[in-house]
Amino acid sequence: MEVQRKQCMYCGSVIHGRSDKKFCNDNCRSSYNNQHKDEEGDQVKTINHILRSNRKVLMAILEDGVETVKVPKERLAQLGFNFKYHTHHFPHSPSKNFWFCFDYGFLDYYNGWILVVRDMGESYLESLNKLVSSH
Ligand SMILES: [Zn+2]
Repeated sequence: MEVQRKQCMYCGSVIHGRSDKKFCNDNCRSSYNNQHKDEEGDQVKTINHILRSNRKVLMAILEDGVETVKVPKERLAQLGFNFKYHTHHFPHSPSKNFWFCFDYGFLDYYNGWILVVRDMGESYLESLNKLVSSH
């Protein structure tokens, strides 16, 4: 007969007793749970930080009263924009989206240029789509 040696998910000790046990005791269980709660919190904090700093970059480019600004994509990278993270998107064309970090976003325009925009609601973005034709 095969004996399954289960290990505690926290400390790695071999667990004796019921086969559905995952931890050797309540201390290990709560330590494990606390550790994982923190990891999740850190991830969320890190990504929130990136999203907020992305928003600041876009905000710095769009001055007050200006609705859209065309800038080279590398300018955003220079300012520390992280293209991996965004909060939502809005379709521009079958192949392109506006990508937003909260209320600020951008469209991959053409030839390395991007268009920085504000999210002022769906009807605004619909009308922006008609004004802006990307290639
Ligand atoms: Zn343990």
